Amino acid sequence: MGKLKARIGSGEAGRFDQRNTMYMRPRDPERSDERILDIGRRHYSVKRFGKAPGYTMRDWSFAMSMWYLERWWGFGNMTGNEGLLTWFPDEKERALRDRMHPGEKWEVSDPGEMSRNIKKAALFIGASLVGISKLDRRWLYSHSFHPHTHNHAPIEIPPEFQYAIVMAHEMPYELMQTSPAYGGFASTGRGYSMMAFCASSLAHYIRSLGYKAIPNGNDTALSIPLAVDAGLGELGRNGMLITERFGPRVRLSKVFTDLPLVPDKPVEFGVAEYCAACKRCAEECPAGAISLDEPTTRGPTISNNSGLYKWYINPEKCLDFWARNNGSCENCVRSCSYNKLPGKVHDAARFSIKHFPGLNPVLAKMDRIFGYGKRVKTEDVWR
Ligand code: SF4
Ligand code: SF4
Repeated sequence: MGKLKARIGSGEAGRFDQRNTMYMRPRDPERSDERILDIGRRHYSVKRFGKAPGYTMRDWSFAMSMWYLERWWGFGNMTGNEGLLTWFPDEKERALRDRMHPGEKWEVSDPGEMSRNIKKAALFIGASLVGISKLDRRWLYSHSFHPHTHNHAPIEIPPEFQYAIVMAHEMPYELMQTSPAYGGFASTGRGYSMMAFCASSLAHYIRSLGYKAIPNGNDTALSIPLAVDAGLGELGRNGMLITERFGPRVRLSKVFTDLPLVPDKPVEFGVAEYCAACKRCAEECPAGAISLDEPTTRGPTISNNSGLYKWYINPEKCLDFWARNNGSCENCVRSCSYNKLPGKVHDAARFSIKHFPGLNPVLAKMDRIFGYGKRVKTEDVWR
């Protein structure tokens, strides 16, 4: 196990341009080369279904049902500030529909009590985890990019938005185990639709209290560093947020607000040290997109936010596999050692990782021996 040179995620990176994300580049004919455009043509093409288990029309139809709220109303994968994630909806109309006086404001005398209320509200609405951070403007995208209109515009968030409420949304375990078949994509879709529902509903609550709220999904700002700042988890080798309870099996949404709150602090429970010993996600990645090497400060493509000390994945290789797979892939979530349901044995393993990192190589080996994280047949999940 190599010793880490610095804290994972430390260092400096400039504001990242949404146009450089791997979802946008294949839809950016002005800037992308033929290789990237070809990945996009294959990935975003109309599906042709066969009879392979997990890849049928029925599997895809179910996945689309899980994505329904996000793809039809949420748009958390787009530029932001549209659909359910609109930043400044008509306040008079809101007040009229909700039978409230426009302009009325709830006085916050105790930001700590307000923070507890907001967190509980987020959980009642449906979030799986919630934390609060100061809005660190380094994590805002420098520009937004719309994949359909190609509009590329600077992102400005007014200075009164001081806080980010960050929510994690669990993706169903059983479906995730079928990755890279369409069940994994369905599981992801549930996460995205919950992002849209929870972020927009929590924003509505805050607006109803008389404050401002900007709900967002993958748009507007990088979610993972904000989630780390909000104490939801640590950054893993697979490039994802690893939460203590669900591992990487979560999607993230956030709400920026001027509501007076008290931020949480980042947490450490041994992820970086365990990832140094584990490497399971890298071995299970069909694209060879996850690093088996030491962390570094430079990613391999322009879709990486270089400058931070971490493990960088190769998003070009990743999306190319999605295109070849005629869908998506979630193997790095499915196979992660932290992706386990609660239980005494798993809780004990987490305790060991946190307090006895010297045992990490043994635990990583046992994870494989016991067969955790293996792909499950789609028909067995539905049976
Ligand atoms: S989604 Fe699949 S292809 Fe992409 S990095 Fe994860 S395991 Fe590799
Ligand atoms: S599979 Fe292992 S190396 Fe990869 S993110 Fe999970 S714990 Fe870290």
